[in-house]
Amino acid sequence: ERLVGADADSEDQAVEAALRPKQLGEFIGQPKVREQLDLVLRAARARGGTADHVLLSGAPGLGKTTLSMIIAAEMNAPIRITSGPAIQHAGDLAAILSSLQEGEVLFLDEIHRMSRPAEEMLYMAMEDFRVDVIVGKGPGATAIPLELPPFTLVGATTRAGLLPPPLRDRFGFTAHMEFYEPGELEQVVHRSAQLLDVRTDPAGAVEIAGRSRGTPRIANRLLRRVRDYAQVKADGVITREIAAAALEVYEVDGRGLDRLDRAVLGSLLKLFGGGPVGLSTLAVAVGEERETVEEVAEPFLVREGLLARTPRGRVATPAAWAHLGLVPPQQSPQ
Ligand code: ADP
Repeated sequence: ERLVGADADSEDQAVEAALRPKQLGEFIGQPKVREQLDLVLRAARARGGTADHVLLSGAPGLGKTTLSMIIAAEMNAPIRITSGPAIQHAGDLAAILSSLQEGEVLFLDEIHRMSRPAEEMLYMAMEDFRVDVIVGKGPGATAIPLELPPFTLVGATTRAGLLPPPLRDRFGFTAHMEFYEPGELEQVVHRSAQLLDVRTDPAGAVEIAGRSRGTPRIANRLLRRVRDYAQVKADGVITREIAAAALEVYEVDGRGLDRLDRAVLGSLLKLFGGGPVGLSTLAVAVGEERETVEEVAEPFLVREGLLARTPRGRVATPAAWAHLGLVPPQQSPQ
């Protein structure tokens, strides 16, 4: 598992509950989303009703699960958490929906990965708070309508564009979560450090934030590794030097690139003069699978403006040469 991976590992799952902001006011960053959601929730509370269905789109680790829990807390409602891949059959969904309490929040992570029949059942449930449960098979099958209590669906997806329009249209409010600014991640680090009872000076937080790839989950994970280092090698206080030295041990560089990212970039620069080079050739040079290079390393390198995917192959940008401290070969005069 990568230290800079955005998906939750088992350690994250064990500690994240303690680090999650519980109220909207505690949630750092995402000012637009917070403002809009605040209005949606206030209005629903004022009406004494149930909040509209909410769709949260954004990369892993940006706070979608956290926000769904905040929505439930702000509405003083219970929450049920499940995910698209966990719902294989429409019957699975019917069982969940029919057991919801009035006003309950249903958090459906990876909603784009639900099966087709479940998705269609969800349309009706979202719109009319009703499902048709099919009993029997073939010509004798009958649909038994089942009334549901009003509930709030909070769907999460990595990309809203992956959702079929009829599903997307049934959400009253869609929020796009952006990657966090360094200053916001510093706040995340300070907040978590306080909860974990670790002393962190401002420059130490800057150092961790800068390597966290815009993602609070990664910031929290790096903070825990740096804390270990500070406890073992120093007096437990996280300073800039301690954070930098610790993350050097874990091979996470100043910009959040890890060994794999640097291997991809290094091959591209040193073996192929910065490209263009085909993905397969690059993958062989790095000694990794094509998919690993394309899906694990490249998205962040592209986002950071270090690598470009062009029709002729992968190309390093001038920033890539600078980042690895290499000098691009002389351009031959045209
Ligand atoms: P997602 O569901 O988008 O993958 P999570 O909601 O599980 O992300 O967030 C991952 C971790 O990051 C949580 O433990 C939470 O503590 C932290 N986190 C996410 N967003 C914020 C935020 N805005 N402020 C503070 N901590 C956050």
